[in-house]
Amino acid sequence: MKYRSTGKDAPAVTVSEAIRNGLAPDGGLYVPERFPAFQTRDFARVVTLPEVGRILLEPFFEGDPLQPELPAICQDAFSFPIPLRPVNGRKGVSVIELFHGPTAAFKDVGARFLAACLERLEQQEQDTLKVLVATSGDTGGAVAAAFHRRPGIEVKVLYPAGMVSPRQEQQLTCWGDNIHAFRVAGAFDDCQRLVKAALASEALTAECRLTSANSISIGRLLPQAVYYAAASLWHWREHGKRLSLIIPTGNLGNAVAAVWARATGLPVGTITLATNANKVIPDYLSGGDWQPRQSLATLASAMDVGNPSNMARLQDLHPDFSELAASVDAFAVSDEQIRRQIRTDYSEHGELWCPHTATAAHVADHHYDFSAGPVAIVATAHPAKFETVIEPLIGETIPVPPALANLFDLPSHADDLGTEPEAFFAVLRST
Ligand SMILES: *Cc1c(COP(=O)(O)O)cnc(C)c1O
Repeated sequence: MKYRSTGKDAPAVTVSEAIRNGLAPDGGLYVPERFPAFQTRDFARVVTLPEVGRILLEPFFEGDPLQPELPAICQDAFSFPIPLRPVNGRKGVSVIELFHGPTAAFKDVGARFLAACLERLEQQEQDTLKVLVATSGDTGGAVAAAFHRRPGIEVKVLYPAGMVSPRQEQQLTCWGDNIHAFRVAGAFDDCQRLVKAALASEALTAECRLTSANSISIGRLLPQAVYYAAASLWHWREHGKRLSLIIPTGNLGNAVAAVWARATGLPVGTITLATNANKVIPDYLSGGDWQPRQSLATLASAMDVGNPSNMARLQDLHPDFSELAASVDAFAVSDEQIRRQIRTDYSEHGELWCPHTATAAHVADHHYDFSAGPVAIVATAHPAKFETVIEPLIGETIPVPPALANLFDLPSHADDLGTEPEAFFAVLRST
């Protein structure tokens, strides 16, 4: 299997080259040249996530040096449960819980898979690989956790000073060893600019081996298709029906993975995107132009994206607009609707959602067409990660899951960094 760029101006590469490159040299995103065709019986007797991953991803790794390692990579990456369970008080609605990983958000899945791939690709290399990641909160923690103590790899996490929550900051700064956190005197955009400047500097990249772990990496996207494949298979076995999905969406990475899972023939039904007030996607799908804008700050902060970069992958799969618009639905959810959803679902049904998951729960209640069959909302993070939003709404303290609580007890350390690229380059040269 080869991967080509959505930019259409870069050579096709194998999966490990696509993983190493991150972005294609023409600035496009890597997509598989074709999708394998599966039937549910290809997964007969399969009961674990690593097994689903091995079968689903085998064709995507065909002909690649990592192919023989795929079973071990899946074992390594899918190391925590991803349950599908019915939602209390709602007929025909279930939830896929993606938050049982080390940092309690779905990004753990992609980050662990990417780390498992890069660790194996690095085994033949002499020099350390430096993985750069700019984060506004969740991504950096997941990447740090996933790469912690992997040999041959160092991680540099850049986050904006004073703009991540105390619990998020702890998840970025508690690791030590090969993980190095930088508190940048600027905004998230400044962090991202520093990472881009480093990767673009020929002088620097001649001296140290650098890559990034941002969300457009195909090494993060492919494994996300695995949990949708698994959920749809479990549902198919029990009910003989396709499972539709409602996915909290920001940069569209999680949702594109679902579209890809369906493109391989798995029994996924309709796919509905739930955004926060950043509604570039719903506006576009309802017949407007593609108009990226400045992002707005909302309660579902990990979805505050004004220019969802993975739209390029959806457009590549459906070059015809009417086909694209038929492939997914999308609805925007306001902060007030998020608050109300969290309050009422907790008081009436004992269901507690993080603000991102609450957008999907709102869409299930107000927009989903149940004639399309049963639906699963996707829970992208544990509510305890967003206690500052949720606790005032419900008037209670949220118990912290043990894995997260352990991180809160570790000592933390970050170095201060300005927004001048040269200072960052000097650090990269010397550490
Ligand atoms: C990143 C994130 C999202 C958005 O996912 P995309 O792949 O960017 O659409 C939703 N919820 C949580 C908790 C996240 O961390």
